Amino acid sequence: MAKDKGITPQSVDFSEWYLEVIQRAELADYGPVRGTTVLRPYGYALWENIQRTLDEMFKATGHQNVYFPLFIPMSFFEREAEHVEGFSPELAVVTHAGGDALEEPLAVRPTSETIIGHMWAKWIRSYRDLPQLLNQWGNVVRWEMRTRPFLRTSEFLWQEGHTAHATQEEAEAETRRMLGVYATLAREYAAIPVWEGMKTESEKFAGAVYTTTIEAMMRDGKALQAGTSHYLGTNFAKAFDIKFQDRDLETKYVHTTSWGLSWRFIGAIIMTHGDDKGLILPPKLAPIQVVIVPIYKEATRARVLEAAQALEQRLKAQGVRVHLDDRDQYTPGYKFNDWELRGVPYRVELGPRDVESGTAVLASRLGGKETLPLEGLAEAVPQRLAAFHEQLFRRALEFREAHTVTADDYETFKASVEGHFVRAFHCGDAQCEKEIQEETKATTRCIPFDAPEETGLCVRCGRPSAYGKRVLFAKAY
Ligand code: AMP
Repeated sequence: MAKDKGITPQSVDFSEWYLEVIQRAELADYGPVRGTTVLRPYGYALWENIQRTLDEMFKATGHQNVYFPLFIPMSFFEREAEHVEGFSPELAVVTHAGGDALEEPLAVRPTSETIIGHMWAKWIRSYRDLPQLLNQWGNVVRWEMRTRPFLRTSEFLWQEGHTAHATQEEAEAETRRMLGVYATLAREYAAIPVWEGMKTESEKFAGAVYTTTIEAMMRDGKALQAGTSHYLGTNFAKAFDIKFQDRDLETKYVHTTSWGLSWRFIGAIIMTHGDDKGLILPPKLAPIQVVIVPIYKEATRARVLEAAQALEQRLKAQGVRVHLDDRDQYTPGYKFNDWELRGVPYRVELGPRDVESGTAVLASRLGGKETLPLEGLAEAVPQRLAAFHEQLFRRALEFREAHTVTADDYETFKASVEGHFVRAFHCGDAQCEKEIQEETKATTRCIPFDAPEETGLCVRCGRPSAYGKRVLFAKAY
């Protein structure tokens, strides 16, 4: 299928660029129900790589996978006051099944704290049953009003971790540890620099004592919350009566955590790295790391393809995810554009003259070409992929640094918040936060853990700052 026109440039309309890239790279398409997304093979392969990476890290930190039911009795949502208030507007509810009205309506899970809490009340009796370290891969439904593929969809794929502990200390350490796992996924696999920090009270998860988050900067300077980890205290333990007998023979409530990362992370990858040609995928998660594009005429076809296939095998032997694009019906030029659009980190161009001289051209999606001897090329690729990752991370970090400013007065704040993250002091008052949002569309993204300790006056109202640090503000997806 000929691509009749280029993609809308990021500088013209970033939002349109994002939607076009998803469609044209065939990551996903719109489902027939508003806000639903169809994940196509290329998008699913990317998700599988995210999934595999996280799953290994979850298991390495002692977690086990489980599956809880999709349907949750409506009454469960009424047990935790903040949780019900937060989630009621987004619930999809089944009222009829099998041709009859149900006695009790069933919520389609928006998250599983309630049903897991219900089961824990049955399973947890003593300190010997703790900790519970569970994770679930699945889908959830939240009836979102403003939807956008991956970033905010009515049904989404994610993982949700749920843990129960004997002490607050242990649960809080778990909350931070799992946020750290998300930060590792972002930095070391997706090449996305992230801020780890605490959400303010008005941005926290409904039912949590507090929420921690990783926040990433997209190439339009907007923020994306890319994963969250919550300390739930004894809120759900009290709502679902999850108690245990401790070593000291006293009966106590457990302390719980939950943490989630969804396919929004795919959106983060697209918008952190992509350019006007399309996607740029981080090598460790890219479904295809190297594409071989053979260049031939009828007379040279057999010879070139033979060399291409030999190279493909050698790359596979190096553990490289390689694809040989031997489609006869497309020109090499078309293929170059197509794989650039799909964000494949490296392309090998191999023509008859290359085969004769025993060389090939290696082109990076980040720019630059080099001619390498065919002998030893496959062996050189893993190192190139590692360098690509570093270059991608550095590029994203430099962009973030160039688009982060500090503001000590409201005029500076308002003038710089478009396209930037702004570090500023805040009084901690939810009403003041809301007014900043109404006046500038910026929200508090987090109070970064590694921000220096300092105090000052609220950038908007001049009252003393609340957090002992500057807060990170930005417009967010
Ligand atoms: P939460 O349970 O609300 O903390 O959500 C966990 C993670 O899922 C968030 O950090 C988001 O990255 C992601 N997420 C939340 N809502 C949506 C949505 N409607 N569509 C896609 N991802 C979402």
